[in-house]
Amino acid sequence: VLAEAFVGKYLAAATTPPRLSSLIHACQQLQCRVETAPLGAESGRTYRAGAEWRIQLAEGQNYRRQRFTLAHEVGHLLLRTNQLSCPEEERFCDDFAAELLLPREAVLAAARNRRQDLATARDISDQFQVTLSSAVVRLNRVAGWSAAILTFWRQDDTWMLYSTLGAPKEQRFLIRSGSQCTQLLTGMRPGRAHLSVPLPLKINDVEVAVNCSIWRTKHYATVLIDRASLR
Ligand SMILES: [Zn+2]
Repeated sequence: VLAEAFVGKYLAAATTPPRLSSLIHACQQLQCRVETAPLGAESGRTYRAGAEWRIQLAEGQNYRRQRFTLAHEVGHLLLRTNQLSCPEEERFCDDFAAELLLPREAVLAAARNRRQDLATARDISDQFQVTLSSAVVRLNRVAGWSAAILTFWRQDDTWMLYSTLGAPKEQRFLIRSGSQCTQLLTGMRPGRAHLSVPLPLKINDVEVAVNCSIWRTKHYATVLIDRASLR
């Protein structure tokens, strides 16, 4: 509701979903200056500076991350300027940003008649100008997806599992790359989506082949799997 009100009041003239520049302009209307600053581990922060408000965005984030961070910080700003409190404020602000940048109906329309795979997830992240992870989190939430993203990192001649997103908590630390994983990823042509690939993983020390779609670059591989296949 807060997102709708914000869009109606401050982003009425902007494209949907709004560009970074429209969000910055909306903040100015709320007497809030937006600037970049070195923030260490934080990606953004919102605070009061005298009569004004200030949002700082971490330097060096790419456009998509910076835009999502600003949308998240606008959530904090609206809570504070409206003197609202929220028990799970960080989560609220993530939801607020997702609602703003990945509107439910538009995401549903974009995902209709598309398979749950990396090709679709990448198309949607490009269409909405968000990171792949933001797109997948949103598709899980509104479009009935049950996707997890694994990222592999190439270290010398070995592909190491680097991060898992969206995997069930109890599984997250039990997933390892399988013994054939390096061979599969090394042999894969970089720069395009490989769909319906059996990926050798080790889950809780058992070797399994999980059906997935893969995008490989020179040093990274992004893998989309169905969460159900991790059980
Ligand atoms: Zn926050």
